[in-house]
Order: sequence, then C-alpha cells, then structure tokens
Amino acid sequence: MNIIGHYINGRVVETGENFLDVDCPSTGEIESKLAMADKALVYEVINVAQKAQEDWRKTPPAKRAQIFARFKTLVENNSEKLCELIGKEHGKISHDAMGELIRGIENIEYAAGIPELLKGEFTKDVGGKIDSWSQFEPLGVVVGITPFNFPAMVPLWMYPMAIACGNSFILKPSERVPSAQLFLAGLLQKAGLPDGVFNIINGDKEVVDALLQDDRVEAVSFVGSTPIAQYVYQEAARYGKRCQALGGAKNHAIVMPDADLDNAVDQLIGAAFGSSGERCMALSVAVAVGDDVADALIAKLTEQMKSIKVGHYSDKANSFGAVISQEHKERIEAHISSAVEQGARLVVDGRDIQVPPSCENGYYIGATLIDNVTAEMTSYQAEIFGPVLQVVRVDSMEEAVTLINDNMYGNGTCLFTRDGEAARYFSDEIKVGMVGINIPLPVPVAYHSFGGWKQSRFGDLCIYGPDAVRFYTDRKTITQRWPSSGVREGIKYSFPS
Ligand code: NAD
Repeated sequence: MNIIGHYINGRVVETGENFLDVDCPSTGEIESKLAMADKALVYEVINVAQKAQEDWRKTPPAKRAQIFARFKTLVENNSEKLCELIGKEHGKISHDAMGELIRGIENIEYAAGIPELLKGEFTKDVGGKIDSWSQFEPLGVVVGITPFNFPAMVPLWMYPMAIACGNSFILKPSERVPSAQLFLAGLLQKAGLPDGVFNIINGDKEVVDALLQDDRVEAVSFVGSTPIAQYVYQEAARYGKRCQALGGAKNHAIVMPDADLDNAVDQLIGAAFGSSGERCMALSVAVAVGDDVADALIAKLTEQMKSIKVGHYSDKANSFGAVISQEHKERIEAHISSAVEQGARLVVDGRDIQVPPSCENGYYIGATLIDNVTAEMTSYQAEIFGPVLQVVRVDSMEEAVTLINDNMYGNGTCLFTRDGEAARYFSDEIKVGMVGINIPLPVPVAYHSFGGWKQSRFGDLCIYGPDAVRFYTDRKTITQRWPSSGVREGIKYSFPS
C-alpha cells in the first residue's frame, strides 16, 4: 500500500500513529494511506517554518522570482503526471485537471513578477528635506487550508504569492486529494526553494485547530465550505491572526428573452456539469425570465444533455467523472429526491446512470435537470455541489436580481443577454463578487483577485492577484531626515502647522 507522507523541511515524513484511506472515486478502490499529523508534529512543522523564514525574508525578491520562474517550467514539464495524480484521487477527467493546473500555473507566473509587485511607495519631500516611503514586509509563518475540489489550483492560489512575498508556508491540503501537492513540493525544491520554506502537514480538524491556536502562525488563507470558513475565520480572529476564508456558493445565471439561447445552453451545460458540478463557481441555478424562455431552455438543455458522457477520469471522451465520495453521492441524490417531494419537476434524472463494470463501485451521478424550483425548496437553499442544474422561473429581470441578492451566497453569477443596458443594470445592482456577462464562469485571471461576497467570503481581502500582496505583507512606513544645519529645529511641542 502506498503511504502518503507530510513534507517537512524538504523531506517526506511518513511517520505517525494515524493513517487515513485515500480512495479513487472512479473505481471506489483504496489506493493509498495518508499519514495524519498530531499536535506534536504541528508544533514541529511550525518551528521548521519559523526558522527557515529568518533567512528567506532576507532573500532579494529578484532571487525569489527566479525560483518561481523555474518552478513554472518544472510544473509545465510534469503536467501529465500531475493530471494523473489529480484524476486518481479527485475523479475529474484529465482535460479538466489540465484546465485547473493551467489556472494554477498562471498564479506561479504572477508570483515570478514579485520584484515589480513589492516596489512599495515613495514620496520625496513630505516636509522640508524629509522623505517618506512604505515598504511591504513579510508576515512570518503563513498557513493555507484547502478543499478537495481543486487539488492543484487552490493551493497554488496561495503559496506562490505568500512565499514570493518572503513568508514561509505550511499547507494543510484536503485529506482526500493530497498527492498532487506532495509532488509539487518536490518540484519547488528542485526549482531551488530552501528547505523549510514550504511544508505540508496532513490532517483534519485536530491539525487545523492546532495551527489556528499557535501564536507563531501569523496569517491563515482558507478555502472550503461556508460553515468551516466561518469557523476558521472566527478562530483565527480569536487567536489574533490575519485571515481570509473563502466559502461555498450557489451561482445563478439569468437567461433573458433576447439571449442567444443556443450559446446560453452550451455555456450552461459546461458550467453546471463540468467537474461534476464540484466547482465553487459552478452555475447550479438557471433563472429563466418568462415562461417562453424557460420552456425553450428546458427543451434545448434536455436535447443537448443526451450527449453527456460520464465515467473514468482517464477516458478523454468523458464529459465529467465521479463525485468525490459515496457519502457525497448519496447527499446529492437526497437533494434531487427532496426537490421532487417539494413539488419541482425532474426533467433529467442522473441517479440511474449506467457505467462500465470496471467503474461499478465508483461514485457516479449523471447530469440532472430540475424545473420549477422555488426559493423555498431545500435543494435551492443548499449548495448541492454535484451535477445538478435547477431552473427557477421568474417574470422579470428585477425579480431575478432580487432572487440572487436575497441568496446567502454571493460568489459568482452570469447574465445571458444581447442588451447592453440590461448588462449594465445587472452588473450595477447585483450583490455578488464575480460577475459574468455572457461569461458563465467569471473566474478572475491571476493578475486580478478572486473572492465572493456575503457568506462566500469572510475577511477583507480576496485571494491571489494584487490583494495577495496586501494579505501576505505588512506595511511599514518610514519617514526619514538627515539632520544638517538647515533642519536642526530645536524642541517642538505641537505638530507642524
Ligand atoms: P470543507 O470545508 O469540508 O474542507 C475544507 C478544508 O477544511 C479541508 O482541508 C478540511 O480538512 C478542513 N476541515 C474540514 N472540516 C473541518 C473542521 N470541522 N474544522 C477544521 N477544518 C476542517 O470543504 P470541501 O468539501 O473539501 O470542499 C468543497 C467546498 O469548498 C464547497 O463548499 C466549495 O464551494 C468550497 N470552495 C470554495 C471556493 C471559493 O473560492 N470560494 C473554491 C473551492 C471550493
């Protein structure tokens, strides 16, 4: 049995009392055992990271940048291997794994521009012969806690920028998908990162709590479900840490009567069912404006959904793969049943999906379409996080906007229209952090920043991009004068006026 260890001070550490099974969702087979850390190991890894940061913070940004430039090339050269590791533990098909990896690589590329990003601010002569500047200094030891659904990309949203800013980093990846990051740690070492600057510790709540409670940890980046994001944010604040905690989502797409319906249908199918709907930016609710639009939308979706293929992650012909676990599959199925019980119309049922015998023990659920969903239904209120598209019918754009604004989540949203005025109204009035106009998954590129509103994000700053520089550094403002005969002013008891 393959043992997956921690990564501490440049070495893989497989010791521990507790091991967790890591399975392959495509087949249901247990592939590896993951070493789970205890509090003593958490204490040790923080020591390692703290010590390594003392020298790392003094490494010039240009030298740090060179390491990330080399890391980017190494990741690109090993992308097939990484997609295999992602697919095996997550279940997502290889072209989708490649997509997330490329988004992750863009964040490495951004971190390789760190000398430019850390340039600071300077003002000559804020007073007579007095200059002032702000420089952005690393915080120290920073922690990242990440979800299962993007084994490569979400951690890459965090540590390239945290480390490029001069911090050391401890990653607590999802215990379901640990292998891709362990492999990436080896590549980062090959790229020249000093040992101890990047570390991985595996575990669950016990490890997260130990990291949150330790005074030597200065900041925490979290991505995961809303209840845990809120918990991590509150605990981090209680222990005096800076925290950004990104949570769950329920993303709506409004389909207007003037939309290019064929295009909207294609985009909706990709954004609702891609990656089995296990994306925080998945479009899980289509809001049709008018019954004519709704009827036409349902008819076209039903037709197009016939071509969806679901199966093993390694088969490139598949549209999407298994969901993460048997438990999650049953949860999704329960949401479909509850929608029907509460009066919705099940148009396409993915619960009876047929897969080849070699995949029979995998966790599959087919693309599902539900019509006549209302805001009161349990399936509407929950983040289903599966390949389920629900259609809500409304009479006007204003009603659609109110529905979205009343939702507890505010991660992503999209409007399908040909009307510029409607697009302007939508982007001005909508209370959501990431907005698409005819763009189904408006995920900001690496040189912008990513973050939702309302219960989709706790904390002031978004993740990656320019906000990452602010999050992973502290401002120090220096005001300087070199005394000379002209500026020896004697004692002053009031501010200069
Ligand atoms: P999760 O919240 O269950 O787990 C996330 C991390 O928290 C994992 O590392 C896990 O080990 C840890 N954790 C779990 N329970 C904990 C507890 N009780 N105390 C402390 N730590 C705990 O999330 P998941 O199921 O792995 O991922 C799916 C969720 O992540 C979805 O809700 C999805 O929307 C969200 N997500 C959000 C974004 C975003 O950018 N907003 C991106 C990706 C995923």
